[in-house]
Amino acid sequence: MPEGHTIHRMAKDHEEWFRGKRVDLSSPQGRFRDGAQALNQSIFHSASAHGKHLFHRYILSDTSDAFIHIHLGLYGKFRSRNIEHQAIVSPNCRLRIQSETHILDLSGPTCCEVLTADEVKQKCSQLGPDPLRDDGDVELFIERLAKRRIPIAAALLNQKVIAGLGNIYRAELLFEHRINPLTPANEIKASTARDLWHTAMWWLALGVKADQIITTLDKASAEDHIAKGKRSESLMIYGHSTCLKCESPVETRSVGNRKLYACFECQIGS
Ligand SMILES: [Zn+2]
Repeated sequence: MPEGHTIHRMAKDHEEWFRGKRVDLSSPQGRFRDGAQALNQSIFHSASAHGKHLFHRYILSDTSDAFIHIHLGLYGKFRSRNIEHQAIVSPNCRLRIQSETHILDLSGPTCCEVLTADEVKQKCSQLGPDPLRDDGDVELFIERLAKRRIPIAAALLNQKVIAGLGNIYRAELLFEHRINPLTPANEIKASTARDLWHTAMWWLALGVKADQIITTLDKASAEDHIAKGKRSESLMIYGHSTCLKCESPVETRSVGNRKLYACFECQIGS
């Protein structure tokens, strides 16, 4: 499943392609026919993300707007096509957004629905704070950790605690800060929680810029990874078998229903 930086990057790209344009919306597969018809030929106003949720805002008239809420889940994908290839339509295409210059096809999402502005607010209020958003609130993150006894490694995947992190970022964050991943969330010091939040903020922003996960706090090294592109090896513990710091074997076990990578020699803090 894509982590939050991917969804924020998509929001940025979609705005670049469609902002202010009148768009044709259709559902070649048929499962979003009513939604597509309701918003067809409206103006694409903006795109935003909250964690792994994407929102497209459309202007219907001077006084009304509506949103399409998309969650890609495990199998959802966007595909952008050159306008010259408009005849190519996948039978799985749930939603096609088309302007005079761009085509964007969505297939296989867990969720694709039309919402009102109030419903979007309601949906976002159920999510934890997102470090990439202007309204991302570190105090709320600290508060939500303090209410949970689950391991910190599970809490970081809980979208009600912090929105946008996935399996790779949580392993890297806990390793970077030398935190024992099994520490109950309510035993994590507020200062540690603040450090985790600020690192997540920096890494996610770097992820949006680079369109890949890069986990280094060193600016020069981050630029180097961006220049090398997607094949560059930039993770510290995720997917590794030996710890880069102490050369102990990296342990893997299921925490929060996902495979966690950790070094229990180095990660002893809370
Ligand atoms: Zn180690």
